[in-house]
Amino acid sequence: MIEKITKTTEHIQLMEQFPSLGLNRLNPYMLSLPLGWMKSVTEICQLLSDYKKETGNQVKVTQIKEKFGSLRFYYRAPKQPAQLYETIEQLCLMTEEICAYCGSKGKIKHQDGYYMMAVCDKHYIPDETDYD
Ligand SMILES: [Zn+2]
Repeated sequence: MIEKITKTTEHIQLMEQFPSLGLNRLNPYMLSLPLGWMKSVTEICQLLSDYKKETGNQVKVTQIKEKFGSLRFYYRAPKQPAQLYETIEQLCLMTEEICAYCGSKGKIKHQDGYYMMAVCDKHYIPDETDYD
């Protein structure tokens, strides 16, 4: 079972580090992602926080989650430049190669035979289902 960020230490840490992004409004379902991606999430929050500070423009994080084995980061920033959007998309895409459990180099694999997740060799659970 993958340990996820909920209203735990990591969530509080993010809220305290980036008080301007509305992270306090995210309920655990809106902030449900593997701990192995904390570094990527923190990096994105930093970019958004800097952008907001520099421009004074509106930024609100609406959801952070895992989908199809990689990070999805949803936010509202109506006037954001294309480059900011692309950088954040790129950071999300890169999690396809970051182990969701430990943050080391990984690859998207079918985990335990059914769901897809970016995992390293150590955290890969091969399909051991008996289909007979
Ligand atoms: Zn791992």
